[in-house]
Amino acid sequence: MEVQTCSRCRKFFNYVGGERLCHACKEEVEKEFQKVKEFIRENKTATVIQVAEECEVSEKQIRQWIKEERLELSVSDGAIVCEKCGAAITSGRYCEKCKADMVNSLSSAIKKDEAPKPEAKKSTRDGNKMRFLK
Ligand SMILES: [Zn+2]
Ligand SMILES: [Zn+2]
Repeated sequence: MEVQTCSRCRKFFNYVGGERLCHACKEEVEKEFQKVKEFIRENKTATVIQVAEECEVSEKQIRQWIKEERLELSVSDGAIVCEKCGAAITSGRYCEKCKADMVNSLSSAIKKDEAPKPEAKKSTRDGNKMRFLK
């Protein structure tokens, strides 16, 4: 067992892995997520800023959920970018191209012959809407 400070309330707690949050904060964050999820369900055209204001959740937290792929923007607002190439993305940490590249370099490291060609996923969604994934 490891003692850490909670990244949200700065209290000491017994760290068991995953996010550096104490039990109480984990529950709080989960409640906030449910609130955001409900809000997005009813307000399909809400932007990150609107969601943050209406749900009283920090924009940073919402972007964190987007990175964790719990939330997704239907159209990039330019603020979420691929950590590798800087391309605008809607969810997660990397764009489809970099994800495919990573998969390729992984599989080519194992299998030295022909790497499979990545198929680019086409996005057909429109409007600056958000949706929940989990
Ligand atoms: Zn805490
Ligand atoms: Zn990229």
